[in-house]
Amino acid sequence: IERTLSIIKPNAVINHNIGQIINRLETAGLQVAGLKMVHLSKEQAEGFYEEHRGKVFFEILVDFMTSAPVVVIALQGENAINAYREIMGATDPAAAARGTLRADFGGEIVTYNAVHGSDSPESAAREIAYFFPDTQVY
Ligand code: ATP
Ligand code: MG
Repeated sequence: IERTLSIIKPNAVINHNIGQIINRLETAGLQVAGLKMVHLSKEQAEGFYEEHRGKVFFEILVDFMTSAPVVVIALQGENAINAYREIMGATDPAAAARGTLRADFGGEIVTYNAVHGSDSPESAAREIAYFFPDTQVY
């Protein structure tokens, strides 16, 4: 059993897509092990996306991620990291396969791609610890 971190990003929250997104995750066999809504501070968003600091899109990404609340979810299941990445689809919603979360809920530009997902076991561990103290993941 593996864990991964999902974030439902501000555009999907504003568009009332939280329920549909969680429904797809649970339907696919991914179990919610922790969940909270949080309006990220600039410092929290910058810390979360530390690896992207200095890239051309860093500032727009941080502005977007702090523009409205997000829903942070610790998911668990078999092969959860890759299973969830398949459900999300490609980073750019315009390139994401039909029926994926990013194709269906992503916005007009790549930054507004509706959801985040950890990309490796190391990232998943770091990202889950970033948002959930042990006692908040079940
Ligand atoms: P995520 O980490 O959110 O699952 P990812 O791993 O597919 O997505 P990363 O390369 O880690 O993508 O980029 C993190 C986030 O930064 C993306 O999800 C997207 O919101 C934004 N982003 C990535 N590339 C660009 C870009 N070229 N221009 C604008 N925003 C971008
Ligand atoms: Mg990434």
